[in-house]
Amino acid sequence: MQTTKRAKKSKGRAAPKVTAIAVPLHATRRMVIPRPDVLHTYLEYSQINQYLEYIVHRYSNFVKLYTLGITHEKREVRAVEINWMNADNVELSSVMRMQAAKHAEQHKISGAKGPMVLPGDKNRNIIFIEAGTHAREWITVSTSLNCIYQLTERYTRNIELLRNLRFIIVPLVNPDGYEYSRTKNRNWRKNRRPHKASKIVGTDCNRNYDIFWECGPTKTNRNTYKGERPFSEPETRAMRNILDSLAPNLLFFLSLHSYGQSIMYPWGYCREAPYYWRELHTLATTGRTAIKSYNGREYRTGSISCLTKRTIAGSVVDYVYGVLKSPMALVMELPSRELGFQPPVEMISQIGHESWFGIREMCKSAFDLRQRIRRDEEPMAPKPPGVSNSGGGDSPSNVSNSDGKKKSPQKKKIKKRSKRSLLTQHAEILELQKRQPARRAKTAPLRTRDGHGDGPS
Ligand SMILES: [Zn+2]
Repeated sequence: MQTTKRAKKSKGRAAPKVTAIAVPLHATRRMVIPRPDVLHTYLEYSQINQYLEYIVHRYSNFVKLYTLGITHEKREVRAVEINWMNADNVELSSVMRMQAAKHAEQHKISGAKGPMVLPGDKNRNIIFIEAGTHAREWITVSTSLNCIYQLTERYTRNIELLRNLRFIIVPLVNPDGYEYSRTKNRNWRKNRRPHKASKIVGTDCNRNYDIFWECGPTKTNRNTYKGERPFSEPETRAMRNILDSLAPNLLFFLSLHSYGQSIMYPWGYCREAPYYWRELHTLATTGRTAIKSYNGREYRTGSISCLTKRTIAGSVVDYVYGVLKSPMALVMELPSRELGFQPPVEMISQIGHESWFGIREMCKSAFDLRQRIRRDEEPMAPKPPGVSNSGGGDSPSNVSNSDGKKKSPQKKKIKKRSKRSLLTQHAEILELQKRQPARRAKTAPLRTRDGHGDGPS
């Protein structure tokens, strides 16, 4: 293995540090893929691809890369699959590899091109993480890349997780919008496909999914425009294809956004709580508690409509939870209003690490909660206001339920939180970073003494 430094390029901003690794591709040929500094800079689209290619070459025994679709401006929407329990992984025992080989054979026979879909409840073990749907939310892209980093370059720290779960990560759902936001208009949110009838460009991809899509915003000039029809956008079609095919294996779907500093569960489209809201609340609270113990940052938890104080139709998380019946699905809004959509680069690694700490605990919790959730046996989901409800009595009550306990515990907590402002929290976290690196190492097992430049800048 050979390591080199690559010459820095500069376009008015600091060029990322790049290291390179030589990877044997064939016996006679070696391929060198530079490694962009994923933890300390906002990468451009080409650098994100370069990092994904670096990872898939370096960890080819358990990482695969898929192209899910092509955007209007001809960029690729890509997914990384991190699957430790597979036949190519030489670190597994021969028995395990033989078992995995059987699955691979079945997959090959089926002729499917994407990640494997396996029969049976025991194979419901996929954690699906997506980010970068909203162009300006750069920190979500960096944070999802940090998840990839943790599960590959730091895989030994996460080996238990990898033995039980399979990860699919889409770090940049909306590359056209992201590049436009990086180079033209930092505040851009939608994708970049123009509308035929007007000069206006862009659809909010997170209003374009087929779950009560008709209730979404119809004005093309709005930031939250729902699109011409469900899945009118190449980005959402790309996501639909992989999500629909993996539906039988999905365990926990996580959609990263910013900057609400909150972990939220369905429904977005209506104010009722879903039937299994308790499990979702437990899952979200696990994430919140983990992050608070990591560095004191306080997330809010609750349903999307409750925390955002509005209803949101056609979102991916409602689609995955409501249509595909994934046992668990959450939205995580990273910090924070005071930092804006693009926190300073010094914060990328901090936010990435603290978020991973929360995400990792939620993944473990999702694995533990899986037996308690039987989505096929629950009553039908409620309809949003204004949509006729033929079912009747199928809506889970928002007031009480069978064991008589009051529902929706979020309101009290929101009030309590306002006592300590987000800015104060943030200042305290920065102070903690400077003052106590040793304490952080103790409370945060993600960080080891030989930490490979992944600490705060
Ligand atoms: Zn967003």
